[in-house]
Amino acid sequence: MIALSVLVVALSILSTLGSQLTSRSPSYGCGTGISPAHKDAFEADFAARRTGLAVKNLKHAAATKFIPTYFHVVRSSTELSGGNVPDSQIATQMAVLNAAFVNTSYSFQLVETTRTTNKHWFETASNYDDGIDSQTAMKAALRRGDAKTLNLYSVGFIQGSAAFFDLLGYGTFPFHYNDAPEDDGIVFKYSNLPGGTNEPYNLGANLIHEVGHWMGLYHVFSEGGRGTCDGSSDLVDDTPAQGYPTYGCPERSKTCPGFPGDDSIHNFMDYSTDDCKNNFTPGQVERMAAQMGVYRGI
Ligand SMILES: [Zn+2]
Repeated sequence: MIALSVLVVALSILSTLGSQLTSRSPSYGCGTGISPAHKDAFEADFAARRTGLAVKNLKHAAATKFIPTYFHVVRSSTELSGGNVPDSQIATQMAVLNAAFVNTSYSFQLVETTRTTNKHWFETASNYDDGIDSQTAMKAALRRGDAKTLNLYSVGFIQGSAAFFDLLGYGTFPFHYNDAPEDDGIVFKYSNLPGGTNEPYNLGANLIHEVGHWMGLYHVFSEGGRGTCDGSSDLVDDTPAQGYPTYGCPERSKTCPGFPGDDSIHNFMDYSTDDCKNNFTPGQVERMAAQMGVYRGI
């Protein structure tokens, strides 16, 4: 009888927890963004600079451009649960990343993996304004190379808003480099790596998404105002107008009725689950090449 009561209480707790989990609004947790005013200013600058250069950049697209990549493992301990990811997961992530960019002229080469034990950085290095700015010190200590160099930081996002909102990662845009070179790079949750525990975002697609931002792409859905069917929101012609992000992996979604095309649910720049994402469009590939040429010189 006591066992039965315990079981009933346990089921009741599980049921309550389950309804909380399912009623919670779905999140994806990309922290990369830009204000409309900054976006307008940067896009005007980009339009002025890309004339001629984009064509030149694309003409040489057949030759592979190698991007030196530094992987900074920031950990709270030498245990995997403390963020000390194995080299095998990093190697798989690099392979998954390169497979996603196989139709571009870019390839990512792992130059070095650094390992730093720093519990404070591991737990707090988000870009949320929580009054704790640990990413600045972390990047100042670890960052390598120049505008052409990709710096990746795996951390835990254990404390503050990042933990509350399930932050997966955040990155910087190419056009931010000149103003803040020390800030350049991508910070992400270590358990997103292929083989990590952060299902359904543990197949490596989150890093591909953040690298898309690092190479100049916006999200495929409207960022100016959710629900707005502005097909040019991402400055790419071949991604249909999309009013809202996609969560999970629906068979089909169309958030802008009356506009051509379905939502880009399989695009790396949507919020779908890792197993749902599998492509960049030719327009996105062209924009990345132009952004990289203009702002990263590669
Ligand atoms: Zn994003």
